[in-house]
Amino acid sequence: MDTAGVKFLRLQFTDILGATKNVEVPQSQFEKALRGDVTFDGSSVEGFTRIEESDMLLRPDLGTFLIYPQFSREEGERGKVARLICDVHLPDSTPFEGDPRRVLRRQVERARELGFEMYVGTEPEFFLFERTATGVGSTVTHDRAGYFDLAPIDKGERIRREITNKLVQMGFEIEAAHHEDAPGQHEIDFRYAPALETADRIATFKFVVKRVALEYGLLASFLPKPLPGVNGSGMHCHLSLFREGVNTFADPDGEHGLSNTARQFIAGLLEHAGGMTAITNPLVNSYKRLVPGYEAPVNIAWSTSNRSALIRVPTKRGNSTRAELRMPDPSCNPYLALAAMLAAGLDGIAEKLEPPPAIARNIYKMTVREKRHHRVRELPTDLREAVDELEKDEVIAGALGEHVLDHFVEAKRAEWRDYSATIHAWELNRYLDLI
Ligand code: GLN
Ligand code: MG
Ligand code: MG
Ligand code: MG
Repeated sequence: MDTAGVKFLRLQFTDILGATKNVEVPQSQFEKALRGDVTFDGSSVEGFTRIEESDMLLRPDLGTFLIYPQFSREEGERGKVARLICDVHLPDSTPFEGDPRRVLRRQVERARELGFEMYVGTEPEFFLFERTATGVGSTVTHDRAGYFDLAPIDKGERIRREITNKLVQMGFEIEAAHHEDAPGQHEIDFRYAPALETADRIATFKFVVKRVALEYGLLASFLPKPLPGVNGSGMHCHLSLFREGVNTFADPDGEHGLSNTARQFIAGLLEHAGGMTAITNPLVNSYKRLVPGYEAPVNIAWSTSNRSALIRVPTKRGNSTRAELRMPDPSCNPYLALAAMLAAGLDGIAEKLEPPPAIARNIYKMTVREKRHHRVRELPTDLREAVDELEKDEVIAGALGEHVLDHFVEAKRAEWRDYSATIHAWELNRYLDLI
């Protein structure tokens, strides 16, 4: 680790609801920071609220060291800033059960004991919105372009390229960047990697996108459904299990070119889809994206081709064989979300679950009877239902562990109560004059 020229070190971690936190230390404290001796007050962090254990330690994961590129001129003058992602420990040095990174590590460890490593590639989508003259964000989109449009209709081109450049400087391998379907909506895809690395990257990615947008006077938002009537923002996750560098999902002799491991993993994802949705889609707003007609899934089914299913298996085989899980959105805590996916898939393997037949038809167009016939269930339709399903799902609840589960459920129930007690513009528009 070469800290030459680095003036400030940011120690980063993530709270239970997925907010990235960091504390910055100057050069004189580097040694202490690298030893894992920097403490913070855990009782002020969302979900870390055990007053009696409020002094927590940040143990840096040295493999995550990177030097931030210069985001603005003024920043450069202060000297180089680097960051390290940390695991959170208690004062007695034991890992803290409420640390989302630990939740993912536990599942990664379980997979490793079975000889597997889960690789994950993601496709995060986001909107670029205008800010008002005083810098306040709005929902006025920065352009009016659509899928794969070119500049100058696509005004985001320069910003996407700038984001891509910054990410590349930070060691990302960017596979594609393009305008998405809705006005002001964009997508940048980065190369797949082991689960923990990808979760770390998602957190970094969101920070960089927001930071670069700010430089251009714009607001980047990962809110799943900021605008009615157009597509929302998803974060499709492409999952595969490797064993000694070989993708175990491929089998040229299997049905659809898939191995038993792949089939069982997919069956596990389908089995626990309802239970994990609160984690992969954690906002009240997330469920406004999961409605028919906007390329977001509603039905729990899998397919080798059509995009109306929850899980799609893209055509590539060999080491690129993978299951694309399409309900997650970028507001999720990436550590908890990937832990839930891995736990679900591993349960499918442990229980030797068989998936129902793949569905080739457009599921949005199936009748209720047809869906029942094909054993197609629906994803939870709102946050409250999703939290109920999470609590009932022993595999997903178990993967989170008691501490994270309790705090997550409590926070989400409070969020739902607050939403339910609010009178929304829709209600007044619809009813006020009429009743
Ligand atoms: N935006 C869509 C979603 O909500 C996905 C569109 C796409 O990438 N094909 O999931
Ligand atoms: Mg894509
Ligand atoms: Mg997309
Ligand atoms: Mg996709």
